[in-house]
Amino acid sequence: MTNADHPFLHLAAPQIAGLTPYVPGKPVSELERELGISEAVKLASNENPLGCGEAAREAYLNCAAALGRYPDGGAFALRGAIAEHHGLDPAQVTVGNGSNDVLDLVARTFLQPGAESLFSEHAFAVYPIATQAAGATARVAPARDYGHDLAAMAALVSERTRVVWIANPNNPTGTWLPAEPLRAFLEGLPTHVIAVVDEAYFEYVEEPEYPDTSRWLADFPNLVVTRTFAKVHGLAALRVGYGLSHPAVAELMNRVRHPFNVNEPAQAAAAAALGDMDHVQRSVAHNRAEMARVTAGLERLGLDWIPSVCNFVTVDLGRPAGPVDQALLREGVICRPVANYGLPNHLRISIGLADENERMLAALARVLDEAEASAPAEAGA
Ligand SMILES: *Cc1c(COP(=O)(O)O)cnc(C)c1O
Repeated sequence: MTNADHPFLHLAAPQIAGLTPYVPGKPVSELERELGISEAVKLASNENPLGCGEAAREAYLNCAAALGRYPDGGAFALRGAIAEHHGLDPAQVTVGNGSNDVLDLVARTFLQPGAESLFSEHAFAVYPIATQAAGATARVAPARDYGHDLAAMAALVSERTRVVWIANPNNPTGTWLPAEPLRAFLEGLPTHVIAVVDEAYFEYVEEPEYPDTSRWLADFPNLVVTRTFAKVHGLAALRVGYGLSHPAVAELMNRVRHPFNVNEPAQAAAAAALGDMDHVQRSVAHNRAEMARVTAGLERLGLDWIPSVCNFVTVDLGRPAGPVDQALLREGVICRPVANYGLPNHLRISIGLADENERMLAALARVLDEAEASAPAEAGA
């Protein structure tokens, strides 16, 4: 339905007119239904291909007996486990229905019409959506080598800025910021700006200069660090993430938080996952090995990609990615075109299981071959 013929748009808050919903990766079941196939490969949403660990699965299953009860609205045990994991106070922990929920809590708490939020070109799609849903204005700093240009971002801070969003590392580019420039950027921010550092892929990053900004909270009372259980912990289906901040910032966000925003199986599984660092290590090792397989395969295909510290790689196809993505779907391989991030020639590919990655590479080779064969012959070629 478009705005032009919408029967209820005039009743909606004005900022809703300009919103377009977040586009998630196509579910496997949907593609299988469409193609009449049974073994589609989904490499579109940066999930952990190993799934969750045994401890989390058991904690989840143990909740089956008490599904008639509301969850603990204060998430006492989970917030305690998170606080202990980070050496912080439980009053600094805000849990969310995915870290997405926490990003939205930040927006609803600190943004309003007339206020500005600031983020980088090619940054995570939820920042503009949360900003606009709150009726605030987005300022977008140009990227540098696909990543955040902190100087360009600092130049856009104004007296109206209330929130700065930094994805470290960033999705969909896989780029990251080292400790030193990020810390200098935070030091330079005026005190009326809340700085959000979104660390959804924290565990995957193995760069020595990559910072754990949860350790900086004592130095920056305006800092909010977000983490998720959806990526390396393999609990995407349960929707659970968290924010770490000054207790007074957490207290404000708690005023707008929905009661019971994190369900009981999610709380239980997340707490168990935090205690299962073996699974995290296994998952990171898997990702390291399979990232090498995937990038070696891309190299054989003569493709360029943006160097990534995450569990996905964003490939430059040198031509519009849409048709390639459509052809891959017909091969039963679901990836993520990122034209909505200002990257029309790129395709984001999550790192999957070994055989899934092989299937993706073989399908990509066939698709690119066919595109080559059907392309109009170049003069002199
Ligand atoms: C996946 C992702 C998130 C949030 O995921 P949730 O499932 O809502 O926890 C946040 N930020 C970035 C950059 C992501 O890629």
